[in-house]
Order: sequence, then C-alpha cells, then structure tokens
Amino acid sequence: MSYYFKPATITEALSLASDYSNNYVYFGGGTDLQIYRKQKLIKDEAIIDLSGLTDTYRIQADGNALRLGAFVTLDDITSAPEIQKLFPLLAEAAASVATPVIRKTATIGGNLLVNNRCTFYNQSKEWRDAVGSCMREVGATCLVTGGKDKCFSRNVSDTAPALITLNATVTVQTQKGEDEIPLKEIYAPDGIKYHQHMDDAILTAIRVPEKPVDWWFKKLRLRKTLDFTSLTVAAAIDTAGMARVCLNGVSMSPILIEKPIADLTLEGLTRSARKNCKTVDNDLMPLKYRREMINVYLNEWWQTVKDK
Ligand SMILES: Cc1cc2nc3c(=O)[nH]c(=O)nc-3n(C[C@H](O)[C@H](O)[C@H](O)COP(=O)(O)OP(=O)(O)OC[C@H]3O[C@@H](n4cnc5c(N)ncnc54)[C@H](O)[C@@H]3O)c2cc1C
Ligand code: SF4
Repeated sequence: MSYYFKPATITEALSLASDYSNNYVYFGGGTDLQIYRKQKLIKDEAIIDLSGLTDTYRIQADGNALRLGAFVTLDDITSAPEIQKLFPLLAEAAASVATPVIRKTATIGGNLLVNNRCTFYNQSKEWRDAVGSCMREVGATCLVTGGKDKCFSRNVSDTAPALITLNATVTVQTQKGEDEIPLKEIYAPDGIKYHQHMDDAILTAIRVPEKPVDWWFKKLRLRKTLDFTSLTVAAAIDTAGMARVCLNGVSMSPILIEKPIADLTLEGLTRSARKNCKTVDNDLMPLKYRREMINVYLNEWWQTVKDK
C-alpha cells in the first residue's frame, strides 16, 4: 500500500519528498509509473502527484524562443500552433510517443524523465521470478549481457533527443532553490542511476533558446503507434551553423554529437555514434538490425543536409 499526496505548491511537494526521504515517487501524468506499480517494479511508500502544481502549466513563445511548463501534456505540444510553426521537430517528437489517449495525460516533464527500459526488466513479477531477477532489481548481474556487473537499460524518451538538439535547458527546484541546467546534463550513462542533478528535484520548466534553421526526426519501432523506440534520431542546425545530432533508445543515455556543420562528415558522425552507443540486445528488435539502422538513419539525415 502507498500513501497518495497531491500538493498544491512546490514547497509542499519538496517538503513531502523530504519527509519520505528515499521512499517516495513523483507522479507527472503517471502513464509510465502506473505500469511500474502494476508490475511491482516500484514499491515506494508515498506517491507525490505533481499535477496540482497548475502554475507551471504554460506554453509561452517569445520571438523565436520557447518556454514550456513541465506539466504541459504531449497532446498540447503537438497541437500548439506556436510549436508547430517554430519547433515542428518538438511537435513531431511528442506526436511519436505512445498513443493519442496516453498523450492526453503524459507530460513533457515525465517524458524527459521516463524510466530506462530493458526487455529483461520491464516484465511482470511472475516473468521476472521465473527467469531470475537482474542487478537492476535484486539480482547480482546483468542478464542480457550474460553476467556483466553493469546495467545497460535504454533511455527511451523521444522528446529528449529532440530538445537536446534544440539546445534546451531545464529548470529544476530543490530544497536548495531553483537551478537551470542544460538538458543534456541530466542524463548519465548508467542503466540504474540514469539521471543526475535530479535527486529530490522537481522539473518545472523547459526553455528552448532559438528556432533552428534546419531539423530532422525519425523513430524506429515495430508498429507506428504504441511501441517504445528501438532507435530515435533527431538532428538540428542552429543559426551559428552548429549541428547537433542526438540518438536515443540505443544506449543508457541520449548520445549527442555536436559539431559545426562545416566540419562534419558522414563517416566521422557514424563512427562517433557507433563508438558512443553502448547498444545491447535488450529491445524487441534485434541488436544487429538496430546497429545497422543507426547507419541508415544518419545517412538519410546527411542526404537531406547535402541536398540543401
Ligand atoms: C503503452 C505505452 C506506450 C508508451 N510509449 C512511449 C513511447 O513511445 N515513447 C516514450 O518516450 N514513452 C512512452 N511511454 C511512456 C510514457 O507514457 C511517456 O514517457 C510519458 O511521456 C511519461 O510522462 P508522464 O507524465 O506520464 O510521466 P510519469 O509516468 O508520471 O513519470 C515518469 C518519470 O518522470 C518522473 N517525473 C514526472 N514528472 C516529473 C517532474 N515534473 N519532476 C521530476 N520528476 C518527474 C517520475 O517520477 C517518473 O520517474 C509509453 C507508455 C505506455 C503505457
Ligand atoms: S541491462 Fe541487464 S541489469 Fe540492466 S535491466 Fe537489463 S538485464 Fe537488468
């Protein structure tokens, strides 16, 4: 059994988090977490539902910049005219998440902080008991790699690579106050502790500094709806000519390659992506195919850039 709280202010939410120390979980829309609760993957004593913090629900476009409240739903993002006009990359990434019904409840903050996944972990309790739990739960080693003492669960957020290529920052609130950090810095290459700077922090807003001059987005998955990503690639070029290409679903954290477009080559980009992605066989699609698709997607993006 868990205690349920719906604080009306951030101060109240942080105070509850402090009362329950490491035994609480924040709920945004709850679309990811409810499955974790049903599968008994989380058993925290307290659920702190953040949906009462309504003052942070906003989409504000200011010139070519954008500020989003963390509790804006993915559905609101896909349908907002200012986002469709200035940041179609973000609208497309949000529209690729889950299903239309889920997107009406799922928040952008929850999507950026969605839990890492693995086919050996995101299973029913009965399945896990039958196979034997891995080190992310109660076991000693990683099942997918045949006994390594490291977890390779995948970051599966689709909006994270889009917003990282747009050079976004996030505002977080902790007991110590408010801080703004580059989005790319909240991800750690660790399948168990995959977020950093986020201990007890509440994500309240996302800021995108400027409209890109060019963008691209593609998501690989079994079906065109419902399925989590097997590989997501987002790319954007900013007004200073900096190219940012970000891959997700193929490593413990989003993998960013950042270079002036004038210095970038397809060979260099592919080499860097393949070297930095710690891809293992923990998705519905086979490892070899996903690795190959990294080359295919990067090549596809490169052709669009070359043709311009
Ligand atoms: C069938 C199905 C398909 C799905 N497909 C996809 C998919 O294709 N791509 C994808 O990315 N996701 C997918 N999801 C997962 C999930 O629905 C989305 O990631 C969603 O955007 C999560 O948002 P939420 O608000 O519901 O987050 P929640 O479930 O409420 O929370 C997710 C995580 O973020 C934390 N959190 C939430 N908000 C905050 C905040 N403001 N501050 C601090 N911590 C916070 C929570 O503690 C939790 O760890 C799918 C889920 C289902 C059930
Ligand atoms: S990558 Fe290994 S340790 Fe991590 S969740 Fe999967 S099986 Fe468990």
